Amino acid sequence: MIKSITGSAKCNTYERAKVVEAVLKAVKAAGGLPRVDGRKVLLKPNILSDAGVDRAVTTHPEVIYAVGKMILDAGGILSIADSPGAGIVYSPRVLKKVYHKCGIEKVAEELGIQLSYDTGYQERSFPEGNVMKRFTIINQACNADVIISVCKLKTHMFTHFSGAVKNTFGVVPGLDKPVFHSRFPDAIDFSEMLVDLNELIEPDFVVMDAIVGMEGNGPMGGEPREAGYVLASHSVYGLDISAQTLINMRPESIGTTMAALRRGLIGEVEVEGDEIVPILDYVHPSTYLPRAREPWLKKKVYRNLQRVGKMYEPSPVINTKMCIGCGQCARICPVKAVEIIQGKAVFDLTNCIRCYCCHEMCQYHAIQMKRSLTGKVVHRIINT
Ligand code: SF4
Ligand code: SF4
Repeated sequence: MIKSITGSAKCNTYERAKVVEAVLKAVKAAGGLPRVDGRKVLLKPNILSDAGVDRAVTTHPEVIYAVGKMILDAGGILSIADSPGAGIVYSPRVLKKVYHKCGIEKVAEELGIQLSYDTGYQERSFPEGNVMKRFTIINQACNADVIISVCKLKTHMFTHFSGAVKNTFGVVPGLDKPVFHSRFPDAIDFSEMLVDLNELIEPDFVVMDAIVGMEGNGPMGGEPREAGYVLASHSVYGLDISAQTLINMRPESIGTTMAALRRGLIGEVEVEGDEIVPILDYVHPSTYLPRAREPWLKKKVYRNLQRVGKMYEPSPVINTKMCIGCGQCARICPVKAVEIIQGKAVFDLTNCIRCYCCHEMCQYHAIQMKRSLTGKVVHRIINT
């Protein structure tokens, strides 16, 4: 059974000195950084979109700064890169805008490093994968000797939780991401794919910005919520288990953690440093099943329900007052179930696979997820 250690440090501010102190404490408690001296180190933040720094959508620049400084001080050759969320074109022009709005450009300047706008990618085969044998990976990840993930604590409508394992999805170039949603429309299969990707990439270390997380219907449409920690680990799976505990989620009910546990990639998780105190009223996404005792069995039931009439899972509903007709949801939808008609998004729910990419990428909070009456009844039955 693989054992991992999560380093934990309390921190309730993004004031630089305090964040640097907390990152140092959490990293040390986790056993220290991997060897970086003289090696090319990719620091991979979560840069979902150009939402800015205060909405808890992306890794806060102060945490990126603190980890970057540690890497440089330890003699690493640092680069910072990510491919933003599904449907965002992975091009130098778009990256420049996103890096600027998320504070990465400023952090790079302060650290004295050049940001690379190499947006090339490579095919990497992975015969050992459970559900995926081949991935397209951005050059910046392929060319690194060491990958340090600096993820953000967030809820997620589709996978329920977004932390270290989900952050690795950013090494897939932007417009390739929706293809995975159409290939793996079920969250369980999608989670298996994410674990395959993590086994291929093998992030060497992970630091989580859990100072202010996102609660509710993340990863874009939720609300910022102070969680008060920096966490660190050599194991993406172990760190996620600790973070799920922090926000009062059952690790066994999260697809990626379940897949990692079943594959024997993680066992016992020990916490060193500050005690992790669960936040009992942390708001979970409306798709999450808080009291599921047999999530895999119940998910099978949901799958069949979905196949019969898609009556269980919440469906996208447009708020026409908020929709500005930008078309981002239509561009991103992997099954082309969204059209812009007379300046507003219109959903074809018979084709919709409930992947929530449109909800994830709408910056205007114009898409809500609602259950039908039948879905609400089924949800209640399953959770009682
Ligand atoms: S729903 Fe959101 S993403 Fe879609 S067109 Fe309207 S504003 Fe743009
Ligand atoms: S309409 Fe939205 S939830 Fe439905 S398949 Fe398209 S992107 Fe996914």
